[in-house]
This record gives sequence, structure tokens and C-alpha cells, in this order.
Amino acid sequence: MSQKTLPETTGPAALLGLAPQELRRSVTSWLEARGEPAYRTDQVEHWVYGQAARSFDEATTLPTELRAELGAAFRLTPLEAAWTARSSDGTVKHLWRLEDGEQVESVLIPAGDRLTLCLSSQVGCALGCRFCATGSFGFRRHLTAAEIVAQYRDSLRFAREEMGRPITNLVFMGMGEPLANPEPLFAALEVLHEGFGVGARRITVSTVGLVPGILELARRPEPFGLAVSLHAPLSELRAALMPIERRYPLPELLAAVREYLDRKGRRVTFEYTLIEGINDSTELADSLADITSDLMCFINLIPWNPIPDRPWRSSPPERVEAFARALHRRGVSAAVREPRGRDIAAACGQLRLEHGDPAS
Ligand code: SF4
Repeated sequence: MSQKTLPETTGPAALLGLAPQELRRSVTSWLEARGEPAYRTDQVEHWVYGQAARSFDEATTLPTELRAELGAAFRLTPLEAAWTARSSDGTVKHLWRLEDGEQVESVLIPAGDRLTLCLSSQVGCALGCRFCATGSFGFRRHLTAAEIVAQYRDSLRFAREEMGRPITNLVFMGMGEPLANPEPLFAALEVLHEGFGVGARRITVSTVGLVPGILELARRPEPFGLAVSLHAPLSELRAALMPIERRYPLPELLAAVREYLDRKGRRVTFEYTLIEGINDSTELADSLADITSDLMCFINLIPWNPIPDRPWRSSPPERVEAFARALHRRGVSAAVREPRGRDIAAACGQLRLEHGDPAS
């Protein structure tokens, strides 16, 4: 995958991309050089993490002159909401414009007392899954750690101000493959967990099956969750839907999942999108049970959210139910998840396809 130049590799340090200890060190030495008292570092941390500030102008407990100097020395990576769409089911989708004009999406999904934020990790995606809107416009660039965290920060502000509630869970299921962008992803996880205080068990990384990244997740000390997009239980069919199968075939992928289970003892989620006549037969449900019934896992069955230029249809409800029943008969835990926000094109990449500038 090409490593395109990131916008934050030069100029003032992007504080949201620094590990919290590193942020403390950088800010403390900068403040000390100006003869500022030590407690100012705590104040900066409070504004960056606790208050989710987008600009030091908001930091009203700091002297006005110092705010301006901090603003010149450090970046807080404000995102611009290029488009906001609210679904009748409460789902809210943002299309964010980044500093270089690229655009990514994040989605807030309320369900009971949970408010889950779905985050993007790349602009576009190189992996080309055939059912995916993001895959259809290719790879543009990786997101920096600061840009990943900024989606959370700006969504948190929106959730507090417009929805009157906090974000409870994070999933990396937006645009891009998070484990194809591992360094910024793991840096962002650290900031979200240690800086913003999001519990590791409330953060799930969803992957199409990049084995080295799954193993890295398994070996980290924090119990971050793992979701794997399976979509087919047989290699040949999976390769037709997801080119990644050729690089990391199912046996290798399942071995990595077992290592995660052994080390973390946390149930893994498998995502299975149902496309009529492609991967939704009860025979395939049996094959899926063959490879998952001895794993501590849960299967999310998701009727496919149609995208332009694909001749497929979403599986009808009776086929989805029959598929679920076939799994249940084999003792596999599975549930049907209705896609959220259909009226606002909430499948990953769709908002950008419909409202973004494809040439941006
Ligand atoms: S499903 Fe994920 S990995 Fe596959 S093309 Fe879409 S964004 Fe990329």
C-alpha cells in the first residue's frame, strides 16, 4: 500500500496524536521555557481531554496571551463538518473535511443506553471488498493518529451538545481498514483510552482479517475488542468478495483469532453481510458453523446495504431468518442486525459517495 505524505508530519505538534505522557512532556517543557507554573500542564490536559477543546481560544482558565501562543505552538486538529445527516432512527452521520480537503465519515449510533461512535481510519481503502462503498473509490491516504482522535473529539462535542449524552462505545468500522494503518491506529487507541478515558473494553477494532494486526492487538496489554468481517465461510467465495482472502486465507485468519481468544479471553465478533443468492444459503450457514462453533464468538448477521453500481440485492428477511436459524441449530450465537440509518446512506463510504467531492 502506498504511504502518502500525511499533513501533520511538519509544523506544530498535533497534540491529539501524542500519547498522553508525551503530551505532558512536550507541553511541560514548552511552558517551562516560558516561565509558566507547572500547574498549567494540568490545565492544558483538562482542556484537551476533559473539555474536548477544538481551539485554545476555548481555554478560558488560561491567560489570553498564553492561549494564542499555545495555539501557534500546538495543533488541536479541528475538523470541519462538511455534511451532517440525521436518520429517523436517531443515527447521525458526519462527513468531516480534513485540513488537506480530504473527507472521511463517522457515525453516531444510539441504541438503548449506548451511544456508539463508528470511526474511520483511512481516506478510502485499498482492499477493494466488492460489497463496500468505500472500497469502490480506492485508497487516498492514511489518517494520522490526531485525525482519528479528532473524529472522536468532535463527535463527543456533538453528542454532548446536540444529543445531550456521552459516547459510550467506539468501533473502528468506518472508512478504511484500521489494521492497514497500524501505527496511527495504535497511537490513537492509546490517546482515546488513556487520555480521553474510554475503557479499552468499550473500544472495538474491526478488520477484514489482517493477521499481523490481529496478532498485535492480541499481544497488547489492553483488552481492546476484536471484530472480524468474515462474509463467507469458504475461501473461494470469500476471495471473490474480499481480495484480502488471497493474502491471509481463512485458516491463517482463524489461527490469529484463536491467539486473540487465548490471550484476551474476550469474545470475538464476526460480521457477516448477507447478499441475496451470493452468501446467504443455509448450506453456507452450516459451513459457517463448521468454522466458528468451537470459538468463543458471536456472529452479527447484517442484511447488505445496497450501493450504486452493484447488481446485488440485500437478502430478504425470510432468507436472513433461515440463515440465523441454521446457525442457532448448531449452537452458534448469532443475531440479525438491521442496518442503521438507511435513510441517510449510513453504510461505510456512502455519504462520501453521495455528498463528497469524489475528486477531492
Ligand atoms: S469493507 Fe473495509 S476493508 Fe473492505 S473495502 Fe470496505 S473499508 Fe476497505
